[in-house]
Amino acid sequence: MVNGYDGSRAAELPPATRELIARRERALGGAYRLFYDQPVSFVMGAGVYLYDADGNAYLDAYNNVPSVGHSHPHVTETVAKQLGTLNTHTRYLTDGLVAYAERLLATHTVGADGSGGSVAQAMFTCTGSEANDLALRIARHYTGATGVVVTANAYHGVTAALAELSPSLGPGVPLGSHVRVVPAPAPGVNFTAAVAWAISDLERHGLRLAAFLADSLFSSDGVLPDPAGFLAPVTEIVHAAGGLYIADEVQSGFGRTGTHMWGYQRHGIAPDIVTMGKPMGNGLPIAGLVARPDVTESFGRQARYFNTFGGNPVCVAAASAVLDVLETEGLPANAAATGAYLKDAATRLADLSPVLGDIRGAGLYLGIDVIAPGTPGDPSGKLAAAIVNGMRDRRVLISATGPQGNVLKVRPPLPFAREHADQFLTALQETIEAVH
Ligand code: PMP
Repeated sequence: MVNGYDGSRAAELPPATRELIARRERALGGAYRLFYDQPVSFVMGAGVYLYDADGNAYLDAYNNVPSVGHSHPHVTETVAKQLGTLNTHTRYLTDGLVAYAERLLATHTVGADGSGGSVAQAMFTCTGSEANDLALRIARHYTGATGVVVTANAYHGVTAALAELSPSLGPGVPLGSHVRVVPAPAPGVNFTAAVAWAISDLERHGLRLAAFLADSLFSSDGVLPDPAGFLAPVTEIVHAAGGLYIADEVQSGFGRTGTHMWGYQRHGIAPDIVTMGKPMGNGLPIAGLVARPDVTESFGRQARYFNTFGGNPVCVAAASAVLDVLETEGLPANAAATGAYLKDAATRLADLSPVLGDIRGAGLYLGIDVIAPGTPGDPSGKLAAAIVNGMRDRRVLISATGPQGNVLKVRPPLPFAREHADQFLTALQETIEAVH
């Protein structure tokens, strides 16, 4: 695993940390992974900082779930008040759920005419995986087809249906026979042609396309946002094949890209279904999808949908408080401004460093290629891991992504300001000087 603790530096850990790791392994088994050579334990979070038991502050340049900031007071108060008042489920009429759905829909531009808002519909789940799983069920129902096209290192979730179309889980998790994988949209790849080929390959095997499913920022493929607009021709060939375009906005949604509320809007496309999660409730389990009403119509008639916790009043209160904070604190605009500042400064650093290569990003989501010094500067997952751990030693949290684990993943909470960017850049400069 990229940035996974493997125990090789266990002897350097404080005895209390070693003991907790041992208890965790005994109690939880082998499937869980910890970050960093030297795992870190937190007791508190506030804004863009996490704190350990000794009161040391770690700059969070990694976590997108607490996207309006750790333990944001408005979210905390709104959730506490709702929890102390009423928490039921979607089989009773509650105003909050409907009001939130209306507010969320107004931010979207889905469907053929891109008019979103008044015409689209929302459904709620607890996790991004459940949202993608439901989107797939709806797409299969609508198209009568089963085929799905995803990118080479995609990750879409934990359910059985999603694990078999998440190639980033590795060779130990087989892909389904109805799944086709296309190269990630990196420079030099004709992405539209690759999707067209994948669709025709499905058809040669007697399958039809139900959906093209893609993260609008291609995060696990190494963060590939540009050029904005390259997804437009893909939607056309997906529709021509009778399939639906599902935009996975679990990573790219809720203002992260700065210029737009949703990653797909950077591409000027109008997906048929959009799935959302992670930052939606700033840490409370709320996720969901929005879709064209004609897409959900027959599914809605024929399949009953109830998700016990999905869209409960407490989670909806959190989600609605998140929208409040995004607006009142102008966080998407901050993501655009700080993101541009960070990308420029990191690019200047990379120009002078033999170990930093291409830097890509949109808003507060950056991917920084790490390369071995020399020509041509091959991707180096090993050096990336050293940088990730060196940053952690300097109390700045990042991780790595991409098929070779060689892309630094920088994805802070959205209140990340210029002073935090400067702190990050100082630590990065010190770290790259120390690792080679
Ligand atoms: N889609 C994408 C693009 C993701 O990054 C993730 C989570 N990393 C998911 C779906 C699944 O979300 P969850 O972990 O909430 O089930």
